[in-house]
Amino acid sequence: MQILDGKIVSQAVKDAVKEKTSLLKAAGKKTPHLAAILVGSDGASETYVASKVKSCEEIGYTSTLIRLDPNIEEAVLIEAIEKLNADDDVDGILVQLPLPKQISEEKIINLIHPDKDVDGFHPMSVGKMVQGLPTFLPATPYGIIMMLEHYKVETKGKHAVVIGRSNIVGRPISILLNRNSYPGNCTVTVCHSHTPNLKEICLQADIIVAALGRPGFLTADMVKENAVVVDVGITRVADATKKSGFAIKGDVDYVNVAPKCSFITPVPGGVGLMTIAALMMNTYNACVAKNK
Ligand code: NAD
Repeated sequence: MQILDGKIVSQAVKDAVKEKTSLLKAAGKKTPHLAAILVGSDGASETYVASKVKSCEEIGYTSTLIRLDPNIEEAVLIEAIEKLNADDDVDGILVQLPLPKQISEEKIINLIHPDKDVDGFHPMSVGKMVQGLPTFLPATPYGIIMMLEHYKVETKGKHAVVIGRSNIVGRPISILLNRNSYPGNCTVTVCHSHTPNLKEICLQADIIVAALGRPGFLTADMVKENAVVVDVGITRVADATKKSGFAIKGDVDYVNVAPKCSFITPVPGGVGLMTIAALMMNTYNACVAKNK
């Protein structure tokens, strides 16, 4: 069994963009600027945004963090995005999800200029991804793809089972694994909360991507020998032994599943770190494309 180590791969990706960013700087060109908007102060969202800002600092990007009150009207967020859309210095915009109930996520995602859509959630980016055209890939699926590539995991002709069909993880990773390129060329089955016989389907899988948000859901009796298991789940579970009062749990029963696998991602230390690395890559590409 080999661990698909998010620490190693994300560092390699970040080192590569750091190097390319210093070359931009040395050539007197514009370096990337990522603007993040955080509405409210949800603990998990705070942590994600802080990691993204820290990565920008490590790499040498400019970052701007805009904090908005959780009770704002939608119009306030719209105005903030319009300002960032119009700001030539800003290359990438991310709005940390989820948003408070009074704000339409769909409306907000659609408002981000596609050239600055470094999260890859805009319908324009999604449409291009589906057609296999160059675009910003959504960060988590892109991170998974980079990880499979780094470890040269064979995907051609394999049966991949994706558990979860959200717009940000399940659906896009199912499209990417099905592409006619590497990593890709899988036969993909997408499962969701209404899928009967999930265990039987998983037992046929060479590759399983678990992205449902149920800690420990994928158990050893659902996984065949030598499968590749990618655990996307991140759930905070109360844990009195931790200083923070919680532990981070994935969707896979790691201890029992890992011995059966050819490759597996740990949680933490797996896909989560790759998501940030992928965002950094998208931001670099946004900057270079915009300032050609
Ligand atoms: P979501 O709630 O939007 O979607 C969950 C999906 O799982 C749905 O399609 C649902 O149909 C399916 N599902 C739920 N219960 C199921 C069941 N019993 N059997 C089969 N399918 C079931 O979640 P999401 O935004 O896609 O996130 C999924 C998980 O991934 C969460 O734990 C989230 O925190 C995590 N996540 C991690 C990263 C990362 O960087 N590692 C990024 C995004 C999301």
